[in-house]
Amino acid sequence: MFDFLSQKFSSLFSRFDNGEKLTESNVAQTLDQLKQALLEADVPYRVVDSFTQSVKEDVLGTKAIASLKPAEHLMKIVQDKIIMFLGGEGVVAPFPSSMVLMVMGLQGSGKTTTLGKLAYKIKKDALKEGKTKKILVASVDFYRPAAIDQLELLADRVGVDFYRTQSKQPLLAVKEIISRHQQHCYDVLLLDTAGRLHVDNNLLQELQEIDALLQPNYKILVLDAMTGQESLSVAKVFEDTVGFKGAILTKMDSDTRGGSAFAFRYVLKKPILFVGEGENVADLSFFFPDRAAERILGMGDVRSLIEQAEEKIALNEREKAEEAFKSGSFSLQDFADQMAMMSKLGSLSQLLKYMPGGGMNVSPDVIQKGEVELSKFRAIISSMTLKERLNPSILDNSRMKRVAQGAGVVQQDVAMLLKRFEEAKQYVKLLNRFGSH
Ligand code: GDP
Repeated sequence: MFDFLSQKFSSLFSRFDNGEKLTESNVAQTLDQLKQALLEADVPYRVVDSFTQSVKEDVLGTKAIASLKPAEHLMKIVQDKIIMFLGGEGVVAPFPSSMVLMVMGLQGSGKTTTLGKLAYKIKKDALKEGKTKKILVASVDFYRPAAIDQLELLADRVGVDFYRTQSKQPLLAVKEIISRHQQHCYDVLLLDTAGRLHVDNNLLQELQEIDALLQPNYKILVLDAMTGQESLSVAKVFEDTVGFKGAILTKMDSDTRGGSAFAFRYVLKKPILFVGEGENVADLSFFFPDRAAERILGMGDVRSLIEQAEEKIALNEREKAEEAFKSGSFSLQDFADQMAMMSKLGSLSQLLKYMPGGGMNVSPDVIQKGEVELSKFRAIISSMTLKERLNPSILDNSRMKRVAQGAGVVQQDVAMLLKRFEEAKQYVKLLNRFGSH
């Protein structure tokens, strides 16, 4: 997310690293580069203009803060502006406990996938609070072949109820869905609607009729972030005809330049509620303008990483890992468990994106080598017996040979793993010693 802008922006401020003072001319140059970066990210010209104008006014209008270096001062102003342009502090309003929600958008924008993600999120959030929610998903997308089958599969994967209407006439189908919802006392109804390849009047009229009949609490526009400025005109048409509460930007994991997030918020004055960052049901996150700003400015986003760890790694797994660390009984089995735990968060390169600098200083070769090493380690540990994992010192030459063969690696790889493991153990010991003082 925002990798493109992050790369451009971080190089903008490095010229001030030597403590160079802010002058009218170097600020003007930096603002020009800022403008260029935003335009390249497909942010519309008027939004870029307003952004840089507003940064300029603040730079010229505020006194340098004594505790901040010039670069930090400028960066702070840019950071505040990015937050403002992306929607302010961004309050995450939880969904009400019972609701009807309808998603809208063009075909291919990611509506159906997003509906599955929302069902997953609502179900999981309720479970976290020890509650179970009755969730129904249904679709009136009779235009895209297989859209309804796709939703059925998703509902099955997430473990929520799915209803297939008898009628294929959208309004009659909505009536069926409403009575299903009421008869079975569902807490939540999520409705997928038809998209087209382009906005057309029939689609909009149909949506207006569905809206009037269903009276949803939430209408959410799903927008493909890859479409850039085009998505803005789509959003405007939906806003003028059907209206919506906020948007979900999908495909933020892809090679998107991030311009749509800037433009959407500024032009539509509606919040971006969530962003889709992958094809799996868990790949939906709340959108926080302040965290996005930190990522754009290469400050990393460790908070989101921690939250993801909490979401994706079960509590007992985390507790087990901490326990092994603390007790000093850190075994190869724990090592393997931790690797499996980390892989739930994503690949090394994905993890690096959350770190300050976004992993830009780490060359792709090094990342690639790390990924290969990790997958070898996984294979080696899985071809060991439990006894060997708990007590690796019994791994003599012949055992090492057997393990290497089983994992499809050479014996040196096994020796390398043992070396790394010993290093990790020493490190854990050291941490424990510090912890106990
Ligand atoms: P619909 O026509 O609007 O219902 O779109 P779909 O839900 O079928 O999505 C279209 C394509 O986009 C599918 O291949 C999805 O897997 C993919 N997709 C949806 N959301 C995301 C996302 O956040 N990231 C990525 N990489 N792909 C997505």
